[in-house]
Amino acid sequence: MTTHPTLAQIDRYAAGDPGLDEPSVWAIEVHLEECADCRARLAGSTTVDTRAVIERVATSLDREIAATPPPAGPGRSWSVLRHRWFVGTLLPWLAMTAAVLACAALLGALRTGLPSLVLLIAPLAPLPGVAVAWHRRADPAWELIASSPAAGLTMLLRRTAAVLAFVIPTLALVGAGTGISMAAMLLPCLAFTAAALLLGTFVGVRRAAIGLTSIWTLVVVAPSLAAARMPVVLAAESARSWALATVLLTIMALFRVNGFRRLSAHD
Ligand SMILES: [Zn+2]
Repeated sequence: MTTHPTLAQIDRYAAGDPGLDEPSVWAIEVHLEECADCRARLAGSTTVDTRAVIERVATSLDREIAATPPPAGPGRSWSVLRHRWFVGTLLPWLAMTAAVLACAALLGALRTGLPSLVLLIAPLAPLPGVAVAWHRRADPAWELIASSPAAGLTMLLRRTAAVLAFVIPTLALVGAGTGISMAAMLLPCLAFTAAALLLGTFVGVRRAAIGLTSIWTLVVVAPSLAAARMPVVLAAESARSWALATVLLTIMALFRVNGFRRLSAHD
């Protein structure tokens, strides 16, 4: 065992004396770890002020711990569910999506000469929901996701699933009224979802969703409405290409999943 530091040295250590050189501080610290007697002497060396501060901190901590309500039992599982699946914040966007699709179906029923608006906008239907599901400022669980290394993939799948679980039945419902085949709407819808997630890992999901919506509207929706006929990309023969695109984009998005942890830099 090393020799005990003198009482004077312990006093200087306790006071944080800058005159005490580094090796001496280290030696005292190492010694204190293994010597109860010197720890007792150090305790005696602490100033009245220091002890008063420690006392105050301990008292206020005790008070705060006593004042904090214990975590609620029954409500907890619902709030966990909500955070994981992110239902609450999505509701306005999902309602909007449903309303837009319903309007498109109604317009299609009224204006029979035009190509189906439902089919034209079906690929875009999940994008607002996906964008909101991934928007940092709207997300109470963001810090949690960003800080947990394994959360990326699970969160990605859960949140996208939550959006699609709503959008797909809505499309089916609207499609049933207009006589459009489900596959014709579903495959482009899934391909666009995967594309938004993949692009999202580069530029942020929100920008990706806005970009894809603008491009599709300009390149496909507007010309189709102007020409009053269905675009080739949405013809029945294109289904296989959409399926292939969906699979490829999904695989690429899954490989890029780590990018979701860096989204804060872009949104
Ligand atoms: Zn000692």
